[in-house]
Amino acid sequence: MPILEVSNISKSFSDGYAVYDVSLTAERGEIVGLLGPSGCGKTTLLRLVAGLEQPDSGSISFDGVTLDGMAPKDRGFGLMFQDLALFPHMDVIGNVSFGLRMQHLAKDEVRQRVDDLLGVVDLTGYGHRKVHELSGGERQRVALARSLAPKPKLLMFDEPFGSLDRGLRESLQTEVRAILKEIGVTSIYVTHDRDEAFAMADSIVIMDKGSVVQAGTAQELFKAPRSELVARSLGLKNVMLGTVATPGVESPIGVFPIDDPALGNNVGARVLVLIDDRQVSIKQQGGSAEGPALEGIVDSIQFHGGESDLVIRIGEGKLSCLVRPGDVSMALAAGDSVSVVVPPHAVRLVLLDR
Ligand code: ATP
Repeated sequence: MPILEVSNISKSFSDGYAVYDVSLTAERGEIVGLLGPSGCGKTTLLRLVAGLEQPDSGSISFDGVTLDGMAPKDRGFGLMFQDLALFPHMDVIGNVSFGLRMQHLAKDEVRQRVDDLLGVVDLTGYGHRKVHELSGGERQRVALARSLAPKPKLLMFDEPFGSLDRGLRESLQTEVRAILKEIGVTSIYVTHDRDEAFAMADSIVIMDKGSVVQAGTAQELFKAPRSELVARSLGLKNVMLGTVATPGVESPIGVFPIDDPALGNNVGARVLVLIDDRQVSIKQQGGSAEGPALEGIVDSIQFHGGESDLVIRIGEGKLSCLVRPGDVSMALAAGDSVSVVVPPHAVRLVLLDR
């Protein structure tokens, strides 16, 4: 039974719909990731759940209680934004206890809760440090402790680590996820970074242009992306649209055999052709091939880290091939003719018209 139920929510501004007919649920203690490009409506959806915006239509309920018309402060939810808005003139204790003092709790109770929270975010002993005496990661953990202090029933994050460098972001993702899971607070985590969504969330809701395009666990989404956009949002490299024909699926780069009879019965249906770039290779002169070879021309080579992304123009399309250090394909240049081997197990066909 979900604790949060967002049902058919829409919200428009002067330029049209920011959120359109969105439904989503969160189970108790679940971290739901909201993933989508800039401007797709993620922040507006959070603000609707928080009660900072009123929906045009649809409803939201939490723990069986409808939130329609309920003031933000009565919802008992917490928000953590990228702009942490820590109070610079206060020390760590002052910042973490801020919300508690507003609740007029007894001094001892506040002290105990702050001590506990500083332990949870691994900042015991930092209570009297000023905000400017903290590193970026420590400030984030103070902000988290402050958000957790009033024991929110739902905690919402809006790109909280957006301004931090990659290394710090990755270590905070692991730490913050562990803390949220330990406390068991239901959370919504907004990001446009898919790696962050996968690292943080138990399930992911992919949004585009104000609507939900697909939701599920990472495994479910990878197994059966429902559109080209979803497949690309997941970071899959070779995503093409194909059509079921006889004897195979026609794609912009060639025809691929169908090994699933159920798929073969859908002549004319659209399929996603997903080709794993790690399993595609360049045929060596005189070498044996583990599948049919496609003739193409090197379009571009991008080096990142030790590996390279070799993009090859084949027929009407392009195919990415991951090249590892030491591979002779590293010596290729744009314009070279190549034979590309696509082994059958590198190709996945997902039926779209269902
Ligand atoms: P980002 O990742 O860049 O923060 P987002 O996915 O969170 O983007 P929103 O901030 O929800 O997207 O914005 C969705 C759309 O609604 C955008 O086109 C935005 O310009 C518009 N919008 C948001 N808030 C308002 C507002 N108060 N008034 C008018 N338009 C708004």
